[in-house]
Formats: sequence, C-alpha cells, structure tokens
Amino acid sequence: MLALAGYPLDIRVTTLDPGEDTPASHVAPAIRAAYDDPVALEKLATSSDVLTFEFENVPVQAARKAADHVPVFPPPAALEAAQDRAAEKALFERVGLAVPAYAAVSSADELGAALERVGTPAVLKTRRLGYDGKGQVVIRDPALAAQAWRAVREAPCILEAFVPFDGEVSLVGARGKDGATSFYPLIANEHRDGILHVSRPLVDVGELQARAEAHGRALMQELDYVGVLAIEFFRTGEDLLGNEFAPRVHNTGHWTIEGAETSQFEQHLRAVTGLPLGSSALLGPCAMANIIGAIPDPAAVAAIPGAHLHLYGKAPRPGRKLGHITLRAADPDTLEARWLQVTALLDD
Ligand code: AMP
Repeated sequence: MLALAGYPLDIRVTTLDPGEDTPASHVAPAIRAAYDDPVALEKLATSSDVLTFEFENVPVQAARKAADHVPVFPPPAALEAAQDRAAEKALFERVGLAVPAYAAVSSADELGAALERVGTPAVLKTRRLGYDGKGQVVIRDPALAAQAWRAVREAPCILEAFVPFDGEVSLVGARGKDGATSFYPLIANEHRDGILHVSRPLVDVGELQARAEAHGRALMQELDYVGVLAIEFFRTGEDLLGNEFAPRVHNTGHWTIEGAETSQFEQHLRAVTGLPLGSSALLGPCAMANIIGAIPDPAAVAAIPGAHLHLYGKAPRPGRKLGHITLRAADPDTLEARWLQVTALLDD
C-alpha cells in the first residue's frame, strides 16, 4: 500500500523482506533476505534516498546500521521503544500518558509479587514479539500463575491490570521533518481474540480528540519522530489509557485510502521524503473490516455501492489477515444499511 501510494508521486519503492511472494513484491522490486542481512541492507541503503519500515519487528540494529548510509525514518529509537512493552509503557508515562497498572516480570517469583501488586484479573504479555493477541494470557485466579508463566514460555513479560474498557480507540497521525503534525479523527476499534476486526473513524468525540492529539504530539516530539504513528488507547468514560503504539502505518488507518483527503500511506511518504503533510480530513461516513481467514466473493463485494475491496495476495490461513474492505457512504444511515451487507460476506 505504501508502494502504491508512491506511484503517482514518482516515488519508487524497493522492499527488503525475508518472505517469499510478499504483497509488495507484486508491485515493486523486492530484495529477499533477512532484515539484518548485511549485504542486502547495504544494497538497499546505498541505492535509496530514504529508508522506512512498515513492520515493527525489524531488528533495531539493522535500522541503525542502515542509518549510517541513508536517512532512516521513523527514527530507530522509536522502533526500539515499540519493541519492548516495558520501554513503551515507561515512554508513555514520561510524556504524561496514563497507562494501566503494570509490573515487569522475569521469573515465576516476580510474577507472584506482581500479581499481589497489580491484582486480578490481569494480562501477562511477553515484552517482545507479541501481536494480534499472541504472547498474552489473562490471569483471573492467582493460583493459576504457574500455568500462565508456562504459557508465555517463561519469556520476559509485563503483567498489566485488565482494563474493563468502554471501548478501544486509536489515533493515527503524522509528523513531518519540520515538526508539523496532522491527525486523523479518532478511530473506534473492535478486536476479537486480540485481532482487529473493525475500525471506524469517529465524529463528535469533542474534547477526547484534542486530548488524544496532545498525547500524540507529545510522544512524537519526545521521539523526534518523522512519519506516521498510531497510538492505541483503552477508553473508560472520558479517560484514555495508553495501550501501545506502532511506529508505522497502521491497520486501524486503512480506511484512510478512500475515507480521508490524504491516505495514511501517502502521508507517511510525504513525511519521510520531506514533502508538506496533506489534509487528514474525513471525506464522509466510512468503516473498515479486515478480511480474516477466508476471502469473500469479490463480485459480491463489488456489488455493494461504496465498498472497496483490498486483497493482499496472501494464502488463506485461519486467523490470517488477507485483506480489508472499506465502505463509504453519503450519510450514516446508508452506511449502516450497507455495512450489514458487507459484514454478511465475512466469515466471522
Ligand atoms: P495488545 O497486543 O496489547 O494490543 O492486545 C491485543 C488486544 O487484547 C487489545 O486490543 C485488547 O482488546 C486486549 N487487551 C490487551 N490488554 C488488555 C488489558 N490490559 N485489559 C483488557 N484488554 C486487553
């Protein structure tokens, strides 16, 4: 999607990815190698004007090494903070974003102590490499701590208070090289089993938008950030608690391709290449659903007015994100009526 957004701007993209037949390789030259392969990295860095990433488990050392040859945005320090849940939480606290009660855990004994401090229910999450709800277990009964510790394979973790949230929202925004920022409307997200299913931009959230943006600005300033960034919050009443951030374009912002004046992909490219940021204005009511596990009949999606199908060219597998559908409509009532048609096509 970044490569596609670059095309009309004559920004040519080359990708580095260890995977075979990756989505980006269908539209742009691809170097197939490990992210930290020195030869591949040097080839990419020396043949590029700027280097970016859209996957937060790229090794930080690889990003730092490439930065010796070519500007790398977002800054590798942002990647480093996002890769470790303890560092991420400490960063949130440093910039004044409240987080759920938590404690770092690196042994069974520490888990016992953390459970006393944080209480139950609590969520035990591996500090590294967790995504889509993987690498986490909910502990409802302290007597089951040993079982939970085995379930995370005794990896370094954080124990976090379970938040009885009213909703999950994310803020997607960008910061340019000149420090200018631009934010999309807050996005309401629905996860199932830890996997994002539906995202909808919100209107009329009033003061919440301004508060979320203040957090976004503070975080990006602290990191001297350049590019698109997403923060995921738990919303309880009028309070926002920081859950995690992603130093990249984000699944909850995919609706911006059809739903915003400037898509998050174009916005990211503008930021990292030093162009002025574009408008993040919403074009109208819209919603996005991920296609997970099985692909719906493309003709049935195409028959729904305002529905836009995006397939990533990935082989179907249970729980795998294979694409998404964004629906736009002229008014909220039409959106809701057609949304029922969209969701009826998805294998949920
Ligand atoms: P994460 O990978 O931390 O974003 O977790 C994936 C999903 O699990 C979140 O989007 C929430 O739906 C749920 N979750 C994670 N942490 C908590 C928590 N502390 N309290 C309640 N739900 C949580």
